[in-house]
This record gives sequence, C-alpha cells and structure tokens, in this order.
Amino acid sequence: MKLVVVGVGYVGLVSGVCFAECGHEVVCVDKDKKKIINLNSGIVPIYEPGLEELVIRNRRNGRLTFTTTLDAVKDADAVFIAVGTPPDPHSGHADLRYVFEVASELTGYLDNSFKTIVIKSTVPVGTGKHVEDLIKTTRPDANIAVVSNPEFLREGHAIEDFQYPDRVVIGTDNKHAAQIMCKIYSMFDGVFPIVCVKRESSELIKYGSNSFLATKIAFINEMADLCEKVGADILEVAHGIGSDSRIGSKFLQAGPGFAGSCFPKDILSLVTTGRDNNTPIRLIETVIESNECRKLAMAHKIQDLVGNLEDKTVSILGLTFKPNTDDMREACSLTIIPELIRMGAKVKAYDPIGMENAKKLLEYVEFCPDIYSCIDGTDVVAILTEWDDFYKMDLNHIITIMKTPQMVDLRNIFDPAHMRRLGFKYSSIGRE
Ligand code: NAD
Repeated sequence: MKLVVVGVGYVGLVSGVCFAECGHEVVCVDKDKKKIINLNSGIVPIYEPGLEELVIRNRRNGRLTFTTTLDAVKDADAVFIAVGTPPDPHSGHADLRYVFEVASELTGYLDNSFKTIVIKSTVPVGTGKHVEDLIKTTRPDANIAVVSNPEFLREGHAIEDFQYPDRVVIGTDNKHAAQIMCKIYSMFDGVFPIVCVKRESSELIKYGSNSFLATKIAFINEMADLCEKVGADILEVAHGIGSDSRIGSKFLQAGPGFAGSCFPKDILSLVTTGRDNNTPIRLIETVIESNECRKLAMAHKIQDLVGNLEDKTVSILGLTFKPNTDDMREACSLTIIPELIRMGAKVKAYDPIGMENAKKLLEYVEFCPDIYSCIDGTDVVAILTEWDDFYKMDLNHIITIMKTPQMVDLRNIFDPAHMRRLGFKYSSIGRE
C-alpha cells in the first residue's frame, strides 16, 4: 500500500521504516529540512538500535523516501500523523498545534477520492473528531475518515516493539477505513491481536496504558522507600509481588522515578482531561506528585551518603531517561544535576550516547569522554541510567582513581554486599 507518514521523529521514523520493511511504499514527510537532507544522505537523526540498517535497506530498495512536501498524499492509501504533542507548560493539556497544523496543510492535497487519515500521535480523547471537523470546515467535499491508531513502542526497543506488538489498536466507526487499516497491518493478522474499537476508546486506551504503567513504577518506588526504612529488600519484594500473574513483573523495577517523552506528559494530559470533564483522576494526580518529589529526593540521597556536598565533585553516569536512546526529554538527570549544583557540588558527567543532546540542556557540567575520566578524582559516583557499559565497569580500578570510593546506585546495578567488600560506601534503592 502507499503510505505517507508526517513527522519523522522517534515514532514517525520507526513506523515509516517498519511499514516499508513489511512491503508498503512509504513517503516520510517532515518540515525540518535539515533532518530530511540528512536522511536522504543516510544520516539517521536519532539513536535507536537497528534503525539505521533498516533505513539504509529500505531506501535502497526504493520503498522508503524522505521529503518536506505533502505531494505524495494525493496517491496515498493512508496518511499517518506522527508529530509531537508536547505538554502545554501552563495548562498541562497536550499541545495539539502540530497535529492541527498538519491537518490544515492536508486540506490542500485532498480530492474526492477516499482518504484515511490516521492519528498515530498520542492525543487526548476527542482529537480525532476535532481534526475531522477542522478538515471538513475547509474542505466540506473531502471524502475522509480520521482514525486513531496510537503507538505503544518504547524508545530503545522501538523496532522490536513495532514489529512484535502486544496489540495494534485501531479506533474508527468507518468500515471502509477499518478495512484499509486492517490491510495495512495485515502482516500481523492472526499473529498479534488487532483491537478494533471506537475512536474515543482508542484515544483513551493509549493514555490509560501509560497511566497504569506509570502507577506501577510510582508504587514500587514508594515500596522501595519503605523497604529502606524497615530492612526489607525491594528486589525480593518486587519479585514476590510480580510473580503473581494478575500483577506481572514488568514495570516493577524501583529507580529514580519515571521520565521520558511520554509518561510525564501523557499522565498529566489524562489528569487534565479528567478535570475538564469533571471526573478527577485522583490516583494519577497522586502518581504525578509522588514522581516529582522522588526526582528531587534522589539528589538528597546522594547528599545523604556524602554528608555535605559543598565543594565535593559528583560523577554522574547516565544522562538519558533510559538506556539505548539519546532522548533527554524529562530525563531525571535534568532535575537531579541542577539540584546537586544548587547544593554546592561540582558535577562531571558521562553518557554513552546522550551527551550531545544533554550539553544543550545542562549548564555548569563538565562532560567527559568516557566512564573512567568521569569518575577520576571525584568524591562520589551516581548511576542514573542503567546503560550496559556501567554493569561492566572495572570496580577495582574505580576504587583507585576516586578521591573517596562512594557510590549511589539509583538503578540497583550492583550487589550491596559485594560493593562493601570491595571497599565502597554504597547506597542503592530499596535495599539495606
Ligand atoms: P518527535 O518530537 O521526535 O518528532 C516529531 C516530528 O514531527 C519532528 O521531526 C518535527 O519536525 C515533525 N513535525 C512537527 N510539525 C510538523 C509538520 N507540520 N509537518 C511535518 N513534520 C512536522 O516526536 P515523537 O517522540 O516521535 O512523538 C510523536 C508522537 O508519538 C507524540 O504524540 C508522542 O507522544 C507519541 N509517542 C511517542 C513515543 C516515543 O517513545 N517517543 C511512543 C509512543 C507514542
């Protein structure tokens, strides 16, 4: 089928590439000219394992092209909107300006042939109808259906998640559009569940899923705090809880708080939608508050181990919000590092992939080229992101290059008893 994907970010690029890999002809459109020029030269703008190879292969076989214009819309079977929906800093609503911008640009490319417009961006319930009305106001003759098809991929595992989804959700009451969507996803037919629902249900499924997962994380984080007070071990507690098949073990890893481009903004948007509809979602309001407090508390955890941070040097390992991505949006490091600096610490930092993006967002930080130069001469190491490289660090060497061998492991990478045997003053999450 002929598909157009508008917005070539984490979701648009991965979706476009994976659709091409399945055999569809895909034109990816972005208004960012530099990004498109780069992609046309084989330069992939984001770090995502496996993505570059797929981009190269599908450009070569002619199924994947990149452009700044919407010309391909005329011949397309479906147009996917995958632009960003960042949070409005004042209201907490999702800022839908980019979605509406694309919708109004599309009006110039529609004729009377049927066109399926698919919203892949995460948007509040009611947005599909809004987009349909907006297009119909300018083009009453337009023969369109606006479908909701939220994306559930995780950065760092995006290709795998797209190609092996737990489910595909399609929200529309339009039978013709539903058939087209099923044809687009026919490679999953009989392999993964395709959940066809009302458009409004589909829009809420995405927010509900992210809110539920964020709640699991906030819950286990608070349980970890309790473990520290009562001498329990959060790894044991999470294992015991997660072994219950009604609960499941995923998203029960205690850490510095959830972050990233999705959870914080999506759960805030759900809360705002609840309030707008006079149906407060109090549970999620509390999850947001719990998570915000937690990120700051992590800076104080570092201070607690060291004593006074005044004139101490902290080595930060990991800046991105999770491993295997270069995405810094809402990363915990953006809260923890400024708080450490406010408390008088000097900060050195290293991240295997996210350093260039981090440099644009963090001030007064000495960025280091590798793990050991980052740790050299410092008073304490704090692990913020569980990159693979950090599991393999040479701890015996680290002890010799630190001013004082102290570590705050916010990802529970190491075993506390082993760390103490090596001579570290060590603190982690939810363990004695
Ligand atoms: P992103 O910021 O990485 O990319 C958005 C892209 O859209 C940018 O390249 C931007 O230049 C482009 N764009 C904006 N306006 C445009 C226009 N008028 N025409 C053409 N291009 C335009 O965003 P993302 O992280 O890929 O997220 C996209 C959507 O998917 C969001 O709603 C997000 O919540 C949702 N989502 C993201 C993830 C994730 O892991 N990043 C996962 C699931 C869902």
